[in-house]
Amino acid sequence: MTADDHATGPGSREAYLGRVFDIRDRHVLVTGAASGLGQAIAEAMVDAGAAVTLVDRDADALRQLADALAARNATVAHLVCDVADAAAVQATVEAATTRFGTLDVAFVNAGIAGAPRTDAESRRLERVQLDDWDRVLGVNLTGALNTMRAAASVMRPRRSGCIVVTASTAGLRADPMVGYPYVASKAAIVNVVRQAALDLAPDQIRVNAIAPGPFRTNIGGKRPRSAEAEAAWASTIPLGRMADPEEIKGLALLLASPASSFMTGAVFPVDGGALALSHAI
Ligand code: NAD
Repeated sequence: MTADDHATGPGSREAYLGRVFDIRDRHVLVTGAASGLGQAIAEAMVDAGAAVTLVDRDADALRQLADALAARNATVAHLVCDVADAAAVQATVEAATTRFGTLDVAFVNAGIAGAPRTDAESRRLERVQLDDWDRVLGVNLTGALNTMRAAASVMRPRRSGCIVVTASTAGLRADPMVGYPYVASKAAIVNVVRQAALDLAPDQIRVNAIAPGPFRTNIGGKRPRSAEAEAAWASTIPLGRMADPEEIKGLALLLASPASSFMTGAVFPVDGGALALSHAI
């Protein structure tokens, strides 16, 4: 057998990778798909051959992405929905499931940063605004719960599926760079993920979380940011830089595919080493 046979034959490296990461017959729904990490995740799913439903509250950006993906011959649908609206989320997930006949993977990703906090003073406890608190928890926690619940309602009867929630390193430790509402929402959703993993495991539905460190997206205000802001974030990261949205794709594909068939209830950092700095032994 030559090296070429090994690269392309039936028992080849290519065939093995194709099998382990095969999501070609899957329908994947992504919330917060119109920008940043959600867009990158949706692109990864499309490129791996899945049918994808894009969900976002930003109708214009959503349509633009759907058109761009359709031009690449992708099988995509797009549905405008505010994840903070439980009834709208249930209707959206049911419509997407009806359209593609199943829902195999739900990326619960839509999220917001809350009121801008440009300096340490603005991040103080005394400066927490309850309307901001309610808004951030309404999207990042209740919105994520709404989406997980709707996904479970269509997955459980089929006894299969997987749910992947975008949490944050800010949900796993204190974070001087973000505000109270954000850390509260992300810490809470991490334990909701664990609870849901226990609840849904008997029905063979896996539930995991991704915990990104700082990525260059539009969260907290449109990019590009100032060099100072970028440098401040980079200084908190052992790899010494922020991440590009592309860098979420590998983990997203892993968690959506058969490669992660025994992984559930787990939180996976993609953080340039940030959490390694804060873990006690
Ligand atoms: P982004 O602002 O680039 O994208 C977020 C998308 O979610 C936008 O398209 C927005 O319209 C949509 N969205 C916001 N609220 C919504 C709602 N109520 N209903 C429907 N759609 C809504 O931000 P991002 O950085 O890609 O954020 C994606 C997820 O990643 C969020 O949950 C965020 O908390 C998390 N995260 C981001 C970072 C980072 O550094 N960028 C780090 C850790 C976690």
